[in-house]
Amino acid sequence: MPTIHLLGTGAAYTDPHRTTTMLALESPGHTLLIDCGGDVIQRAQAAGIDLATIDGIFLTHEHPDHVGGFAVFVEKIWLCGRTRPIDMWGIAPALSQARRAFETYDTSRWRLPELRWHEVAYNEGAPVLETGDWRITASPGVHGVPVVGLRIECLRTGATAAYSCDTEPCPAIVRLAAGVDLLVHEANGEGPGHSSSLQAARVAAEAGARRLVLVHVGPGTQDADLAPARSVFAEVRYGDELDRYAF
Ligand SMILES: [Zn+2]
Ligand SMILES: [Zn+2]
Repeated sequence: MPTIHLLGTGAAYTDPHRTTTMLALESPGHTLLIDCGGDVIQRAQAAGIDLATIDGIFLTHEHPDHVGGFAVFVEKIWLCGRTRPIDMWGIAPALSQARRAFETYDTSRWRLPELRWHEVAYNEGAPVLETGDWRITASPGVHGVPVVGLRIECLRTGATAAYSCDTEPCPAIVRLAAGVDLLVHEANGEGPGHSSSLQAARVAAEAGARRLVLVHVGPGTQDADLAPARSVFAEVRYGDELDRYAF
């Protein structure tokens, strides 16, 4: 059964408990990391993920709280003895940001595996990858820079999940999340480029999602804050560090 791990659940400005929002999608023998604004390898270890199963990483957008740990990710992949290629997917600005930052380091003495870059089109329903386990597509959100959310379909079970990444409520993300078993949506707070928990709940209700888990949450978030969101979508909760959701 596929599982989404919440490796981090915080906003860009975090608190002592939450690190930046990073996810891992795991099925037997395969793991896809999503974003690396912090030390994503350490968080994967904390989640009990076998590092040898990591196929690669998807970068949702160029902001530091989503790609700022990329060089550390590559360094650790090298140090743990990785030899098979590692794949990176993302829209062009996100890949470019990670690549530029990484190339400022002198890695000439590192014995790196092959790094393979896969640009994802910036349009609704853009294909990301399809394996024996998953079909993953991306759709744009509305944020200060180009950003995409992801829709994940488990080909063995038919289960579905979606991740909004950083976004205002928008029709493309509602369509991305249509009928999913699990929607992981940001709840940074209402404002340009972000959503409140109430707005995320409205997206989940409109999309017909079964469950809603909120991430990218700011310091001081409390469960009691969810009362307005629960009034429009009952199956909502804040995600917590290292939570895992089978879907
Ligand atoms: Zn962010
Ligand atoms: Zn952002």
